[in-house]
Amino acid sequence: RAKQLGRNTLQHHDGAGTSVGMPLGEHEELHLAITGDQLFLEYQPQVDVATGRITGIEALVRWNHPAKGRVPPINFIPLAEETGLIVPLGLWVLNEACRRARAWQDTGVAPLTIAVNVSAKQFADPDFASHVAEALERHGLQSHWLELEVTESVVMQDAERALAMMASLRALGVRLSIDDFGSGYSSLAALKTFPFDRLKMDRSLVEALPGDKTAVAIVSAVISLAQTLKLSVLAEGVETDAQMDFLRHARCEEAQGYRFSRPVSPEEILRLLQTQLR
Ligand code: C2E
Ligand code: CA
Ligand code: CA
Ligand code: CA
Repeated sequence: RAKQLGRNTLQHHDGAGTSVGMPLGEHEELHLAITGDQLFLEYQPQVDVATGRITGIEALVRWNHPAKGRVPPINFIPLAEETGLIVPLGLWVLNEACRRARAWQDTGVAPLTIAVNVSAKQFADPDFASHVAEALERHGLQSHWLELEVTESVVMQDAERALAMMASLRALGVRLSIDDFGSGYSSLAALKTFPFDRLKMDRSLVEALPGDKTAVAIVSAVISLAQTLKLSVLAEGVETDAQMDFLRHARCEEAQGYRFSRPVSPEEILRLLQTQLR
């Protein structure tokens, strides 16, 4: 098997334009991780700012490496993107998240949205919409409970193709959110061009609340922009009560962050959902 894959190195390029040879080992390791049960998902609640109730859950992938232990996504998602392994990896995430969402529903807790991150190569894959349809079908999950999160760079790469993909996904009935809003340069252009349902305000904007006047102005403007465009708005990375109070007064609809919960196991999510049944 190792022989079949060869002794090649993967060429990957850093921002400075230099080329770094990487032993194929790492690629193969990640491939094995996808096929060999080393990936798992953690789940982070999204809450209604006004009521504190959980309205959705974001699925976040982790790699339990046999030697290195727990590897955070920042250390393997870029490699997965470069090598194209993100396509099978993303497919696994999608199916696992749908399966879990259905299992939660089957326990009788109030149904909620499951949000899945989608990267550029997945979104550019012409088969992506049918993979989504298959995952929903396989796990018996109604499409409006699935939300796909993409960043502006994913849609801006090839706007025409992205618009077509978004149309197919919307036709299925899944919801689309723009992730990390406000972390890039052209977020406004992305909002004008693409039919999103929801805006997720980047943690970098929320972080400086409520002390920083510029952050306050920007967050307030983003919330009213979202209202004008009929997008629901969620603040990411909410860690403190002061941030929460600000967001409540500014009429931000939803929030996600350590203030409520870190990403946790599916069992812990179920416990949280059952606790709020009261
Ligand atoms: P993201 O989609 O913006 O996910 C939110 C990240 O912020 C998560 O990091 C989460 O643990 C972290 N976070 C949540 N609340 C707080 C908070 O209050 N404070 C702070 N400091 N951080 C908070 P994580 O899980 O390490 O994921 C990092 C990134 O990796 C994600 O950013 C996403 O871009 C990517 N990623 C994770 N899972 C997947 C996946 O299944 N597919 C793809 N394509 N990308 C993924
Ligand atoms: Ca996300
Ligand atoms: Ca985000
Ligand atoms: Ca991010």
